Amino acid sequence: MRFFTPGPTHLSPEIKPLIEQALKEDIGSISHRSKDFERIFARMTEGLRALLKIPSAHQIFVLGSATECWERIIENCSQEHSFHLVNGAFSERFYTIALELKRKALKHEVAPGQGADLSTLAIPAEAEVICLTHNETSTGVSLPENAVSALKRRYPEKLLAIDIVSSAPIVDLNWSDIDCGFFSVQKCFGLPAGLGILIASPAALAKAEALQRAGVSIGSYHSFPSLISFVKKNQTPETPNVLGIFLLGGVVDNFNREGIEKVRSDIRSRSEQIYSTFTDREGFKIFVQDPRYRSATVLTIEVIGGSSGLVARLAKQGLEVGSGYGKFKDSQIRIANFPMHSRDDLEELLKAITG
Ligand SMILES: *Cc1c(COP(=O)(O)O)cnc(C)c1O
Repeated sequence: MRFFTPGPTHLSPEIKPLIEQALKEDIGSISHRSKDFERIFARMTEGLRALLKIPSAHQIFVLGSATECWERIIENCSQEHSFHLVNGAFSERFYTIALELKRKALKHEVAPGQGADLSTLAIPAEAEVICLTHNETSTGVSLPENAVSALKRRYPEKLLAIDIVSSAPIVDLNWSDIDCGFFSVQKCFGLPAGLGILIASPAALAKAEALQRAGVSIGSYHSFPSLISFVKKNQTPETPNVLGIFLLGGVVDNFNREGIEKVRSDIRSRSEQIYSTFTDREGFKIFVQDPRYRSATVLTIEVIGGSSGLVARLAKQGLEVGSGYGKFKDSQIRIANFPMHSRDDLEELLKAITG
């Protein structure tokens, strides 16, 4: 089976040899307080820093999932008010997590499939952290990177947190404008699930420390100050997913060898090919109408007359695409366009869909 699902998805081709190497080198048995582990941790974080051009003052934390990152950001970056741009199911979940943590979460909601013009977005004065979702995996809507930077520059005193789960490492952020960026590994990185990466700025860390000094609960072992004290030693507070950290380090090294510009331009050109296949094609409609907001990594297509028959027919041919998300389950398909998907695979998929 070949998976074009938006995550979990097809594993990156280097995962199998990396797992074999991990077994040979007893990665699953070594202590997380050993020098061997510290080397694995440092290789991953240094590789990621080079790949995404993360400034040296930003910290790279290892968490359990992107879902955990949502909770940690709310706890460490807000005392009372968070602000959320909600344009689909994942950004909505970020918002409801803030409510569950008893924050007075504020939101600006955009209809599914619509882009959001960040240049006119007014952030309430009381908001401590602005929460965005760069790539709404539920609908295939994406935010332009330069608009994200411009928003932060309009509100420099507020923290800016951005979910890049289904767009990292394709998204090209200017990290000096980002206070928290986070992703999990079962999307574009093509790893088995079970790891979240959170990148945090000095301002985010200062906010967590200020909340802690004020007696606010910012969580326990995965509070930002606790994470930092271990990151300094290339360690984690708990016994982490060592295999996942090892695999991520290997996949990141491969991206660095290939060159991220090449990886990104391949994704862009394949996404153009997919969108042009469905432009004005009878029986299909691209869900995101405004091309400026179309995702390059998760492409959502309406199937006139319903998508479930198509999804089932493709599965019989060994091609697994995502169905629509939530209420769009039976009317749309979602095609993941990630670095492990080759052009040949993609052409076969497009032929099978339109043929
Ligand atoms: C998949 C996804 C998540 C959740 O990731 P987990 O690894 O399940 O926690 C969050 N945000 C977006 C945009 C996603 O696509």
